[in-house]
Amino acid sequence: MSNASLLILPGDGIGPEVMTEVRKIIDWYGANRDLQFDVSEDLVGGAAYDTHGTPLHDDTMAKAQEVDAVLLGAVGGPKYDNLDFSVKPERGLLRLRKEMDLFANLRPAQCFDALADFSSLKKEVVSGLDIMIVRELTSGIYFGEPRGIIEEGGERVGINTQRYTESEIDRVARSAFELARRRGNKVCSMEKANVMESGILWREVVQKVHDADYADVELSHMYADAGAMQLCRYPKQFDVIVTDNLFGDILSDAAAMLTGSLGMLPSASLGAPMANGRPKALYEPVHGSAPDITGQGKANPIACILSFAMALRYSFDQGDEAARLETAIETVLANGARTPDLMGPDGGTPMSTSDMGDAIVAALDASL
Ligand code: NAD
Repeated sequence: MSNASLLILPGDGIGPEVMTEVRKIIDWYGANRDLQFDVSEDLVGGAAYDTHGTPLHDDTMAKAQEVDAVLLGAVGGPKYDNLDFSVKPERGLLRLRKEMDLFANLRPAQCFDALADFSSLKKEVVSGLDIMIVRELTSGIYFGEPRGIIEEGGERVGINTQRYTESEIDRVARSAFELARRRGNKVCSMEKANVMESGILWREVVQKVHDADYADVELSHMYADAGAMQLCRYPKQFDVIVTDNLFGDILSDAAAMLTGSLGMLPSASLGAPMANGRPKALYEPVHGSAPDITGQGKANPIACILSFAMALRYSFDQGDEAARLETAIETVLANGARTPDLMGPDGGTPMSTSDMGDAIVAALDASL
């Protein structure tokens, strides 16, 4: 693997704690699989504010633009709640997403068998579930103009505008088809073409991209409301789902909860390919900085470790090694390893963040 550079931004709260465990995994790959990463580490969020007076220093932003992948822990915390909006920790993360132009947000919903009881659905409905939601992240109704609250006819009117260009739909559709080729080779596109013009255009463009360049991938279309029902009824019918910013926001949260704990959920945000063919990429757990458990060794590091597995697969073309890591996690869970957030009603003794990291490293050792 040539030139694999990784910028690590642990951030705030439990971010540094879970990132310490990811570093163990990165070291393991260097020592045992000859995967050498050129790793640098920097500050983001409240930690950057404390040192630089800004949640993301320009030098850090520049570094993020140069590396093959950025891995972020979490940002935020009560200490920063009263800061001016412009320097809040979250602004650091938003700046990264915006300036790297990360238009495709990948949220997997993967159910590890050992945790199937955590789902609100029946075990047989979620066991073995492995779907990926690709949400358009930089356009649509959250950004469209006009927007605002105006006065009209003696009352206030709230306005937001759903707006998509062909090129915005084209590029996120390509991301979804590329992903599908590395997975189950199926894409379901979701919109509301029955009631929205932007949905009609969405469906047309996705179909056109498919027919021109991805005819080998199975494509279906579904109205987003029907898609929400199908996600609850029979989620295993899906492989990759591609959808707009608003529907993706809702559907990815719903799908994520099919699998149980927040401490288990990774994500990736991808942009356009760089000169070396790798996409601009930011990997991060879905959870936040969890101030209620910070510094107590209670954080589950798996979401962050699975985010690194996504980096292996989508930035570094190491799908087999990503699968090795996922299998190691499956194994430790099957053997009963649990951080406090994964304790079932029957109790047991929870393990610490660090012990969970060590258990995963031991399972990687055993995989050789
Ligand atoms: P949160 O995700 O930090 O925590 C919600 C609950 O889940 C808490 O009880 C927490 O202890 C638990 N939890 C979260 N991650 C866990 C893990 N890995 N292991 C075990 N338990 C875990 O959300 P919140 O409490 O709403 O927000 C706390 C702070 O994080 C806020 O400042 C918020 O703005 C910020 N935040 C940041 C991000 C991000 O960095 N991407 C995302 C969401 C929230």
